[in-house]
Amino acid sequence: MRPLLCHPFAVRCGIAFLFGVLAAAAAPGQLVERVVDGDTIIVEGVGRVRLIGVDTPETVHPNRPVEFFGKEASAFTKRLLEEKRVRLEYDQERQDRYGRTLAYVYLDDGTFVNAEIIRRGYGHAYTRFPFRHMEAFRQFEREARDNRRGLWGAVVGGRDDASGSDNRSSAGTSQDVPAGLPGTVYVTKTGRKYHLDGCRFLSRSPIPMPTNEAVQRYELCSVCATRLPREP
Ligand SMILES: [Zn+2]
Repeated sequence: MRPLLCHPFAVRCGIAFLFGVLAAAAAPGQLVERVVDGDTIIVEGVGRVRLIGVDTPETVHPNRPVEFFGKEASAFTKRLLEEKRVRLEYDQERQDRYGRTLAYVYLDDGTFVNAEIIRRGYGHAYTRFPFRHMEAFRQFEREARDNRRGLWGAVVGGRDDASGSDNRSSAGTSQDVPAGLPGTVYVTKTGRKYHLDGCRFLSRSPIPMPTNEAVQRYELCSVCATRLPREP
């Protein structure tokens, strides 16, 4: 026991200080009025906020069907954020071209929500534009994939579920990865092929997937195949 901590005055000061901190932390936080989807929220006094560096499957796009795992991602963000008070931090770009505020979102308990979504596998690191946590977010995504969390553990391309075939257990065993493929390839929500980054057949929202998983469930796109180094 340290004498200072036992001293009644010190204890009283400590308690007063703690209450001060709690009051300060509770009061100025900004209220999340609504969660729009997995990576977009509406914050009191700010408006529409897009979480920086994370992309979750689409649920509310007017012209596109709900993407696989979109509902789960949306529900996860709702659980974390709806009607909570948050602290926002910003990076270099304060708004995107749709007028949404770009922010890092923190809960009172210190939870870094942008990172948490990726770590738990409810979204992937969105690295099209640079941001200061990019390397960390990439690493979180790798860990989530390696541990098959959230969307990385489930069957991508949800409609295949209906066939009742066993997609999960055979992953990584039956098909070899063709030579020359990178560790990650891309699929689309409706297609049956997998692609290299940049293929013209990819939609505007390609879904990244570990290659050893993609080869179990998808066929290599014939255009992308021509971009692979030829086997001797
Ligand atoms: Zn392709």
